[in-house]
Amino acid sequence: MKCTLCGEQTVYVRQYDKLAFCKRHFNEQMRKRVQKTITRYKMLGRNDRIAIGVSGGKDSIALLNIMSKIEKDFPESELVAIIIDEGIANYRDEGLHFAKKHAERLDIEYHIFSFEKDFGYNLDYIIKTLGERGKDREYGACSYCGILRRKILNKAAKEVNADILLTGHNLEDEAETILLNIIRGDIKRLVRLDPKPRKIHHSLVPRAKPFRMTPQAEIVMYCYLNDLEYQEIPCPYAVEAYRGDVRDFIFKTQEKQPMLSFNIVRGLDNLLKMVSTIPSSSKMQDCSKCGEAAASNLCKSCWLKDKISTIQNL
Ligand code: SF4
Ligand code: ZN
Repeated sequence: MKCTLCGEQTVYVRQYDKLAFCKRHFNEQMRKRVQKTITRYKMLGRNDRIAIGVSGGKDSIALLNIMSKIEKDFPESELVAIIIDEGIANYRDEGLHFAKKHAERLDIEYHIFSFEKDFGYNLDYIIKTLGERGKDREYGACSYCGILRRKILNKAAKEVNADILLTGHNLEDEAETILLNIIRGDIKRLVRLDPKPRKIHHSLVPRAKPFRMTPQAEIVMYCYLNDLEYQEIPCPYAVEAYRGDVRDFIFKTQEKQPMLSFNIVRGLDNLLKMVSTIPSSSKMQDCSKCGEAAASNLCKSCWLKDKISTIQNL
């Protein structure tokens, strides 16, 4: 099969529109789609100092690489990588290694933050202290990990003076999050998935997801074709994720309906166009303890810290 654009040897055929690409045109379409997504949702300004959360997984490594190419056309902007060490034994070190390696190779400034230093405890200790899931512990490990990662990423973005924080969430991640919020009936969170970065609280650095229209399979192929090493072994806590069921549904259904995730994400965009203003009930409050953004009186991070102290004092 020949590349649809130049007739060269094909390396990838997009399942949803059957277009075939050679390596050069595959890389070009990846970059163009990210640029288009950034432009469509007004994600970046010309002079922005742009922070990218880099875990060392395929999504963040590919995003760092593509953004370093795009950024060359905007000399007034700057990139800075933020790497978070959650503290997961026999797992996290490898991701940290790849994240640092790529930032150094691309000559991108990077900073490492950790749960241990910024929250006081690493994830392994938190999970051990909270106890067994379903018995003593209410949620899966990923819920606690997500609460702290979001908070520390934001703190880090402020500390490095970033105007915007980019994350590597891809098309299927976004479709999953949309479906999960619908399944939980959490319309406040659904509405907050607005892809246009907004200052929803004085303490929050606006966020954006330039890969929200890029399928996971293309990110894997991009890493493969460009020899980008990334962490492939799964996190030991991933088996606890509720997301797993929804994720399975998406990937299974997508085999027969390749446009599924695009339809879900575009569906949200269309819904948001109908909701001209974000209802005030979905706005964030100030946490009564730390002053950071909170959905209720206490932010989730302070709630977790209190919970751990209570257990330690038993
Ligand atoms: Fe954290 Fe869950 Fe990801 Fe592991 S799989 S790093 S626990 S969010
Ligand atoms: Zn707080």
